[in-house]
Amino acid sequence: MGFFASLLDLLFPPKCVFCVKVLHEKSDQWCDKCVESLPFTLNSGRQDGAYYDFCISPLYYKAAVRRSILRYKFRGASGYAGVYGKILAECIQENPDIGYDLISWVPLSDKRKHERGYDQAMLLSLATALELGEVAVETLRKTRNVQAQSELGGAAERRENISGVYEAADPELIEGKCVLLIDDIVTTGSTLEECADALLSAGAARVVCAALARGEV
Ligand SMILES: [Zn+2]
Repeated sequence: MGFFASLLDLLFPPKCVFCVKVLHEKSDQWCDKCVESLPFTLNSGRQDGAYYDFCISPLYYKAAVRRSILRYKFRGASGYAGVYGKILAECIQENPDIGYDLISWVPLSDKRKHERGYDQAMLLSLATALELGEVAVETLRKTRNVQAQSELGGAAERRENISGVYEAADPELIEGKCVLLIDDIVTTGSTLEECADALLSAGAARVVCAALARGEV
């Protein structure tokens, strides 16, 4: 290891993305304790959708997973995308019936992307695709900024909030294709339904989804 790399490790020791404890093995990104104790879902947390076939999620959105994703989304920890991508890719490989042609993501509005500096679902999608030996492509655009879904209550209210805000970025690209849509968190599924509706309306054949973490029902 070069001098500067050693210095960086001394100043910024690698930490577990979930519990933020300093890691001893530099190659790891999460600690043994978290590997054992994270709230993994059973059967990939599969949930059926109306516009999308189903959504799989390896983790529940709670405890250390929730705190980690909040750092990823709101505290600039964009580097977590790598380890998240590995976990999500593994979950996708465990569900071969997911059968997709394209990997894509739920986009942020330009305003939100500008505020945050990065699009966290896009980074997650790119990292996941990389793990699967593929490339994620943009299929949707968010045409206007709306209130954050997490600030709203029930499914009906959430669906109303985002009604008609997504549009296909390039209908030719998705024509007749099965799109695997990736997001960081799925709760009621309203956002994924709206995105899937936009993709199917623009000519996609099927939509399946994968989210890093899901809410508990
Ligand atoms: Zn840990």
